Amino acid sequence: MPAIFFGHGNPMNALLNNRYTEAWRALGTSLPRPRAILMISAHWYVPGTAVTAMARPRTIHDFGGFPAELYRYDYPAPGDRALAGRVRELLAPLDVALDEREWGLDHGTWSVLCHAYPDADVPVVQLSIDETQAPRVHYELGRRLAPLRDEGVLLAGSGNLVHNLHTFAWGAHPVEPFDWAVRFEAQARRCLESGDQEPLVDYESLGRDALLSAPTPDHYLPLLYVIGARRPDDVVSFPVEGVDGGSISMLSVRVG
Ligand code: ZN
Repeated sequence: MPAIFFGHGNPMNALLNNRYTEAWRALGTSLPRPRAILMISAHWYVPGTAVTAMARPRTIHDFGGFPAELYRYDYPAPGDRALAGRVRELLAPLDVALDEREWGLDHGTWSVLCHAYPDADVPVVQLSIDETQAPRVHYELGRRLAPLRDEGVLLAGSGNLVHNLHTFAWGAHPVEPFDWAVRFEAQARRCLESGDQEPLVDYESLGRDALLSAPTPDHYLPLLYVIGARRPDDVVSFPVEGVDGGSISMLSVRVG
């Protein structure tokens, strides 16, 4: 099974049809059908590592200022308690909390999965990102989750390689991507294509372009789980491309 990093963007994409949503749909039909999905979303960024363990994870509307119909949107994918247990086992001795009531599926997860798996019939489990840990720790967790790929589980991250809301153009008109966003994305793509992933793990030392592209770690770190699970013979491809509002990269990365 491949591992996928989704660039998720605007939550309204859940209700829209555009080139991103079409590409997510195409991805869902082209991938081998997973038994379950383990999703690492930028929006569950908390102190500590937890995994959702409820039978019916609720749909979380973790944003403000969007149309009412988006708050009514429900993505009723079941959970998978056995997978939550397997994740705990793979990450031991790290203490992974089994979450029965705190979280659910946030919009990083459902705004893309509602297109890739529109029938919501593939069980979904979310893993939180421990905000107290360094990028290398997250990369290492991805490496330890890699065996799931042989167990029919789609290991997925949802964030954005470039995510700067301070510089984001909220207007309706398309704007050109910032030069630093273009350069950082290009640099990351070269690293992914060549297999030299070390600069991506140590991205904070890459200078101004990285600093502007990932001013906070939350949307960047899901990528490290996905590339952490990469194997030497995996081919990397980019099934979705584009930059929204000048400073949100919609790039998806397929590993394997
Ligand atoms: Zn987001």
